[in-house]
This record gives sequence, structure tokens and C-alpha cells, in this order.
Amino acid sequence: MQANILFPINAEAFTYSVPEGLEEKIRPGMRVLAPFRRGKKVGIVVGTEKSMTAGDVKLSLREAIATKQSQNDTAYKIATHPSSARNDKKGITLKPLEAVLDDGPLVPENLLKLIKWVGEYYMSTSGLALKNAVPSGIFEGKKGGKGRIVYDEDVAPAKGVNLTLEQQTALSEINKAKSGAFLLHGVTGSGKTEVYIRAIEAMGDKEAIVLVPEIALTTQIIDRFRSRFHDKVAFFHSGLSPGERLTQWRKISDGEVRIALGVRSAVFAPFKNLGLIIIDEEHEASYKQFEGLKYSARDVALARAQIEGIKIILGSATPSIETYYHTKKGKLAYLELAHRIEQKPMPRVEIIDMTKEEKESLSYSKKLLGALRENISQGRQSLIMLNRRGYSPFLMCTDCGYTYKCPACSITLTYHKDTKTLNCHYCNSFLKPQDVCPQCKGIKIKYIGLGTQRVEEELNVLLPELTLKRMDRDTTRKKLAHYRIVKDMEDKKIDVLLGTQMVAKGHDFPDVTVAAVVFADVALNLPDFRSSERTFQLFTQLAGRAGRGDMHGEVYIQTYEPGHFVFDYVRNHDYAGFYRKELEMRRELSYPPFSRLVRIVFNFRNKENAAKIMKDVSGRIKNRIKSIRLDSEGHGSGGKGEKIQDSDIEVLGPSPAPVEKIRNYWRWHLVLKGKNAKALRQAASKILESIKDIGDIRVDVDVDPINLL
Ligand code: ADP
Ligand code: ZN
Repeated sequence: MQANILFPINAEAFTYSVPEGLEEKIRPGMRVLAPFRRGKKVGIVVGTEKSMTAGDVKLSLREAIATKQSQNDTAYKIATHPSSARNDKKGITLKPLEAVLDDGPLVPENLLKLIKWVGEYYMSTSGLALKNAVPSGIFEGKKGGKGRIVYDEDVAPAKGVNLTLEQQTALSEINKAKSGAFLLHGVTGSGKTEVYIRAIEAMGDKEAIVLVPEIALTTQIIDRFRSRFHDKVAFFHSGLSPGERLTQWRKISDGEVRIALGVRSAVFAPFKNLGLIIIDEEHEASYKQFEGLKYSARDVALARAQIEGIKIILGSATPSIETYYHTKKGKLAYLELAHRIEQKPMPRVEIIDMTKEEKESLSYSKKLLGALRENISQGRQSLIMLNRRGYSPFLMCTDCGYTYKCPACSITLTYHKDTKTLNCHYCNSFLKPQDVCPQCKGIKIKYIGLGTQRVEEELNVLLPELTLKRMDRDTTRKKLAHYRIVKDMEDKKIDVLLGTQMVAKGHDFPDVTVAAVVFADVALNLPDFRSSERTFQLFTQLAGRAGRGDMHGEVYIQTYEPGHFVFDYVRNHDYAGFYRKELEMRRELSYPPFSRLVRIVFNFRNKENAAKIMKDVSGRIKNRIKSIRLDSEGHGSGGKGEKIQDSDIEVLGPSPAPVEKIRNYWRWHLVLKGKNAKALRQAASKILESIKDIGDIRVDVDVDPINLL
């Protein structure tokens, strides 16, 4: 007997022989101890087979090769153990497994299927998918620590509320269905969370996964889930240590909890009797992992719901263009909560034209400051957002125009006043600025532009009597720091909460009646096809924080470009209007949802080499894929109005990436556009194949990229 074993490494499964004593015991999903290279490794059984003769398996040291699917095998690609690969193809002897470590499957079969799907879909490997799905402690034989680790303060018991008519309608549609995907499109403050909770309650014993985007959102929702489901919830957030993550994972696999609530990786919760997946704020960019395996937890969740044959709810006030489009195409059922709870009005949104408006300081118009003053005098709270941390985005010598750049990245350095350093927000390196200009030795060095620290400093001077707190990545590095700020805000110990996008998302603070954007222009014109969508979502979410309680909310958006089209839709809370406008632009340029994208990033140590090699690569690609239409200018040959056909693959680039250098690597990229996901992946593999022999190059593949910087 043979078994295919998957390890948490960037490779496919390896085949081993199963000693007779283990044949009865071994099953997919169990851990085994296997000899690996010169040592031993713990892996997961992904398939077993009685007569998997070596002749059926084409051997390759590096590459995994698909084999015929057999009954028991979960259709993993397999490769033989590296040390056996040197043997003659016919007469190889497989290494025997040493031990089976579990009495029952630890990784449920459907999760194994999902892991395989992830590896293939993202053009990665099953092993890397496994590594993302299962905590490392599982392979190290660790038990995990104490159970309660996340938030130990007691939560108030849940108030019983009567659902609104809209909530009831949505819920009964969800409860009626056995499987399928739903979009719950509910305006901010419409009570989406209550629908999630009731839908889970309605499932009886079945298990549920609830995905939320990053820590910013989890604190309040965690409390709400704890007050309803008590200790039946496992939590996953980005602040967990590996040991804590293991503990939460164990609770699920031991059947102690029936809900997993958390960020991205919770999509891999090892439930065996899953009935429902919920993705709150499905439009959030943080569902996409940017390092390593570039998966989207939302899309993996959709795949998991299909594999399991269960229901999935995508919730948002500002659905992604793709998701909304798919409801129009009938791929998701559409459920709407069009009104706020208790018919509370949506806030009034005012766009402040900073080119005309009288200013009180660099950051604040008289109008906004007046509104803040008034709001505070009424004993109410405010939120202020500037989506850029630090003090100012650059220092400039006013004599010669010199600005500091990161030595490792093609990025200007942001000045941080608290640490008196110039920081790179890409690679996290920093340096101390000198008193004189490094270029001309001048001494007139100025702070240019705004960051959250500066906006905070100015407000402290302008309104010294108020209590101000800043929330951005710099003030929330410590464990639970974020949770404390949210608590202080709830307890009304803070008058004004100021920060990056972290202040805009998810919070339910009933006494916030003014929400403001200091400088909207930060986000408006990024060279990325999703920048309007992001901007619309962010401002709408921020507006959604105002006026959730008894008092009417007001929103102020300061900008130097008040004519930008997104403002009309933000002002009118007009999602549908924005969607129609944005969709037309996407259609013209054949961007998603009218196509899918695969992006390949080539990283080089040397700039001149990069250009030379990419020129050569461009030629190879032309030869490799004759059917591909190539446009080396990088503008795309789709052009206005010209639709790409089903089988077409359009290649944009290769060209230097908008952020040309990161961490000392020069970056070029190439974007493949097409309708057919499989064809796209094939084209991408051909391209990767064609550059295999090139040295001095590191290649990253991103399937369904969400930014092209
Ligand atoms: P959303 O996520 O849609 O922005 P929430 O789920 O945060 O909205 O709900 C907004 C507020 O309304 C919360 O404080 C919640 O407890 C409350 N709420 C939800 N449903 C009801 C209801 N049916 N009756 C009264 N209050 C409700
Ligand atoms: Zn850098």
C-alpha cells in the first residue's frame, strides 16, 4: 500500500509506502511521521492507494505531476520522495512511513479538497495552501495553551430585539435555502450582524464560519458573538500568537465550539459539519493576502461553500463591483436592507472645496472646525479620517528641492514626529534626517503634506480642551491597544477619534454625530483601476459611522478636487448610481468583472539587467503563446468598446511596475487579462515555463490581483 503525504512546504504531495502494521489505521486527513531528506517530517495523508505502482507515476524531483485519479485519492498531484527520485523509473522503492499520529482524521476531507483547490487556483502548491490552512503547531506536535486568551472582560448579555421587516425577509430567504450564495446588501446601520447571528442560530447543531476583515472590525463583533454564543466561538485575529492560534484551531477540531469568527485564515477552520459561511464587509481589501500565497479569503470561502454544498452570505453596505455584478447575473441571490434600524436617516454629507474655503490651519477648514466645536459642546463624539499615517509624507529642501527617498524602495520617506525618523511604509526601514540638506547643505527644510500625526497636532492646538485619540497602525501595534481605544470610545472617554481608515470601518458608536475626511485627495488618483471603487467604499463606510444613535449625523469631506465624480455618489448615498458608472468604465477597459486578471511580477537585483532581460522575455512570450495578443506598450489592445472574446488572452506589458523598486528589487510586471480562468492560468504557466532558465530573477504570481502597483 502507498500513501500520498502533503507537508506544509512549497511542494505537492510525496508518495510513501505504508508498512503493513499501519495499513488498517491510515486514512486521509491524519498526521503521519515520514522520513524526509535526512530527517523526519510530520505531514498529512491526502490519499491512500492499494496498487499505486511506480510505473504509473512519472517522476520528477522538483515538479509535481498529476496522476490518474483513484478511488481513495483526493486527486492530489503527487511526486515521489526526493531521495527516491534518483532511482530508476521502474524499479523505485518508496520510503516507508514511520508512524500514524492520529486516531481519526484531523483535517476533514472537504478541507483537504479545499486546500488542493487553493493550490491550483492560485498557481501555487497544495503544500503552501496547507501551510496557510493549518497552524504550524499541528506539525510540531504541540498541544496549545490555555483556552481563554482573547478578551477577558465580561460582556453584557444580549438584548432581545425584534427584527425589522427587512431583516425578517432577508433571514427567511436565507433559512429557506439549503445551499447557495447570498449578497446581503445592507446600508450602514441596517442591522446586518443581527441577521448573521439569527441565521447561525437557525442552523441548530451545524457549524458556522464568520469572516471579518482584520482586527479593526473584530472587537465589537466579538463581543456581540460572545454575548449570544458564549464559549461556543473560536476567535482568529491577526494578533494571535502561534500558540493561541493553535488553541483556537484545536477547539474546532475537538468539537468544543461551533463557530469560528475571525480574519482570513478562519476560512480554513477544520469543521466537519459546516452549514454556513458569513463574510462580513465582503468588499474589504484585507481579505486578500499580499505575501506568500496570494489568496482571497472571500473567494476561498465561496469555493469552500461549493465543496461543502452549503450556504454562504456575503454582507456589505458597499459591495465590490464584482459581487454586485454577479447578483445581476444570478450567481448570488440578492437581499437588501435599504434602511437603517428604526428608520434612522442617513447622515448629511457635505463636500468642502478646500481651494475656496477659508482655513483655520493647514488641515482644517473653518467650517469643519466649527462643526467639531459645536458637536463637542453638545457632548457628542466625532471621527476624523486621513488615510495616511506619520507626520508628513515628505521633507523637502526649499533651496534645491531635495526630498528623502528610501534607499531600498522607489518611495519617498514619511516623516514621523514622535520618533523623529523618516520611515519607509513599504519596507519599514527608517533613517534620521539631518539638519542640513544632504544635497545643497541648505537649512530651509520643510514638512510637506499631511499625515495623521500632524492632523492630531493641529487639532490639539486648535481645540485644546478636547480629548483626542489617534488610531493608526503606529498607535495599535501593541496587543489589545486597538481594543482599548474602541472601549474608551464606547465609554465616552474620547471626544474625537482621529486616524487612518481604521476609524472608518465597522464601528458602532451611537454618539458619533460628526465624521470627517481631512484630505480626501490622498486616495482619489492612484494609478489603479480600483481606486474609485476603494474611495467610494471608504467614504461611504466613514459616513456610515455618523448618526447611528438618536441624533442626526453629519459628514464633512475636505478636498481640493470637489468635482471628482465619486463625491456625487457619496453625497447621495447612491451605491447603485456609482455601480452603474464604474461598471461602464470597467466594460470599456475590459477590467473585472468583464475579465479576470493574472499578474506576474518579476523582481531583479539590477536595474539594467531588468530592462535587458524583460525585453528578451517579451520576445519569448510572443513566441510561446501565439494566440495571445501582445501589447508591449502596456495599454492593452482591448481599446475602447472592443470586447475581448472568451478564448482571448490579452497581455499588458511587460513594463516597469508603478512602484518600481521595493526592498532593493527592481520590479517589472505583466498583466494577463481574459475571460476564461483556466485559459489564463495556462497562459501564465506557459510564460513561467518560458523564463525558467533565466537566473537573477524572482517571480511572483498573483491570481485575481486587487491592486496593480
Ligand atoms: P450594520 O452592520 O448593518 O452597519 P449593525 O448590525 O451594527 O449594523 O446594527 C446597528 C445597530 O442596530 C446595532 O447597535 C444593533 O445592535 C442594532 N440593531 C440591529 N437590529 C436591530 C433591531 N431589529 N432592533 C433594534 N436594534 C437593532
Ligand atoms: Zn523602503
